[in-house]
Amino acid sequence: MFIPQRVFFEQKALDYPVGRRLFKKFKLDRIPVSMIGSHNRVTGIPGKTPREAYLEAKRTLVVGVRRTMQFSSCKPSAHYQLPLSTSCTGQCEYCYLNTTLGKKPYVRVYVNIDEILQQAEKYIKERAPEITVFEGAATSDPVPVEPYTGSLARTVEFFGQQPLGRFRFVTKFTDVDSLLDANHNGHTRFRFSINTEYVIKTYEKGTPVAKARIDAAGKVAGAGYPLGFLIAPIFIYPGWQDDYAHLIRSLAKQLKPAIHQDITFELISHRFTLSAKKRILEVFPETTLPMAEAGRKFKYGQFGYGKYVYPKETLEEMKTFFHRELAEHFPGAKVEYLV
Ligand code: SF4
Repeated sequence: MFIPQRVFFEQKALDYPVGRRLFKKFKLDRIPVSMIGSHNRVTGIPGKTPREAYLEAKRTLVVGVRRTMQFSSCKPSAHYQLPLSTSCTGQCEYCYLNTTLGKKPYVRVYVNIDEILQQAEKYIKERAPEITVFEGAATSDPVPVEPYTGSLARTVEFFGQQPLGRFRFVTKFTDVDSLLDANHNGHTRFRFSINTEYVIKTYEKGTPVAKARIDAAGKVAGAGYPLGFLIAPIFIYPGWQDDYAHLIRSLAKQLKPAIHQDITFELISHRFTLSAKKRILEVFPETTLPMAEAGRKFKYGQFGYGKYVYPKETLEEMKTFFHRELAEHFPGAKVEYLV
């Protein structure tokens, strides 16, 4: 379980029951607690080098109130992002949050969950009679902080009562027991981000091994949740086909054939931008992440910046491989996209 080394509270967070409960808890646990004016301006996280600042931020919890109630869009996996938390305790070298959250990607939770869910309800009403889908992991992995806030369970139950609202989130973490009893009513798709043991060991520091994630997925499936897997990022390295085939077979073996039909897969090949590369090299100077522009194809992005993706032939090879393996071991499962 994530135990922060320091916690910052926005004064306003104490106006909410979750905020008051957490304040009391951290005081009792003798974890250093400080008050701040805004969860967007946190000073007092140590760290002289970019790496130290990053690691200290990952051990820092900020408890705040979400003020922006305009939810960002979230294509292609959902209509809107549902902001429950920001950042996460993992230290994945390739994580896109390394570039979006600045030099100190501290872990942030929001205590005004009722207001956030009320806003979600407004969005659902606006789109009625269409179904509206919300993504709970667009800017974080929400599971490591769940034992503190209980916000995920609350959200799952909220969507369980929404005929026109659906929720989905993805995690690499395995502390899922508190979510098993939530009354999800089949409206939440619980997804796990998985990868080969080699990728996890090399690039996903501070996260559970593949076996633990697959075991947790088995529990979640047992609780009747619609299940999904995100295989991302997919790397090409010597032996990649054997490793990914092993991963897919282990998954198929662990999960009961009865649920194979209702499983979704999202597949994302590794890509990087030059600003991400620069930031990653500051924080992880020894990284072996494949980031040589020469071996990649440059693809223009939405806002003028571009990303380096695998060349077309490599992507085709990847597609053929994954479609074949998934068709064999998960016939009937839905591959939502491979990019
Ligand atoms: S677990 Fe997800 S959100 Fe957390 S560091 Fe890894 S990739 Fe980023």
